[in-house]
Amino acid sequence: MNRYVVLFLLLLSCGCQDNPQQEANRTQNGPQKKYTVVVTTGMVGDLVRHVAAEHAEVIGLMGEGVDPHLFRPTASDNGKMMGADIIIYSGLMLEGPLQPALEQASKRGKIVAAVTEKLPQDKVRIPDGFGHHPDPHVWGDVKTWALCLDQVVDVLSEYDPESAEDYENNAAAYRDELQEIDDYARKAIASIPEDRRYLVTAHDAFEYFSNAYVIHVKSVQGISTDSDPGVQDINELVDFLVENKIPAIFVEATVNSANLRAVIEGAKQQGWDVTIGGMLYSDSLGTPNTYEGTYIGMMDSNITTIARALGGTVPQNGLNGKLTIGEKNSN
Ligand SMILES: [Zn+2]
Repeated sequence: MNRYVVLFLLLLSCGCQDNPQQEANRTQNGPQKKYTVVVTTGMVGDLVRHVAAEHAEVIGLMGEGVDPHLFRPTASDNGKMMGADIIIYSGLMLEGPLQPALEQASKRGKIVAAVTEKLPQDKVRIPDGFGHHPDPHVWGDVKTWALCLDQVVDVLSEYDPESAEDYENNAAAYRDELQEIDDYARKAIASIPEDRRYLVTAHDAFEYFSNAYVIHVKSVQGISTDSDPGVQDINELVDFLVENKIPAIFVEATVNSANLRAVIEGAKQQGWDVTIGGMLYSDSLGTPNTYEGTYIGMMDSNITTIARALGGTVPQNGLNGKLTIGEKNSN
């Protein structure tokens, strides 16, 4: 009798193992289903995380406050890249010193792609006097940055065609969120009195922002941070501030602010007081797992900081009420 019970139980447990639900869970949660994407900047990571969602593990190389123009990979970074299934970077020469490592990975058969690779030519700025190199700071214009979602969808779908529909849907949902921050930027910058609509920063990272949201920009340093500005550059900027009576200039999270201090000092000697309008994120996101650590939070922080310092009208804690800069800046 006992033998029959045992046999019956065995049959039952066998039946359980063939349960289609369990079968499905196994394939979904199986380690073979989650692939790895290594990304360079926080902004690129943000795009890839939104599109990939639960399908991939996304590993960032450049953390908070890291300058992508100067970033050189360590042995551990190279290890991460060689261990990844896909490497996605920003492109347009933003990650200059990382380029050899990206080429190496590509030669060894890795999928290596830039989010800006398929941007229409008329969306990419080619400034004068920069050896006709494109301006890489595309994320400053939300609408153009949102176009990069298509490339992320293409790259992930090619690697994992089964989830292509998910990638398309995830990108579409994120596009709607991006539209909101784009609308906010337009309104917030337009609320600054016209004669004060000048954005003065340490390096030239805001030209896309400037074109998209209609604010003039001026910077001490050029488009990359790999060369020092001369005394001439600093003096020119001082004269500009004094002549146009610009009330505030902005420091950047990834760039040394010594040059800006020299500018403030220079203006003071000409009898014009310039204040620091706050800190802007130019080439990195804020602290991971905070609102400012997301692309939308980073843009909200920049837009709100700029508008407030130059006399515009913006909500105290930004578009989504999640910013903490309002409190910090009023001290
Ligand atoms: Zn930059």
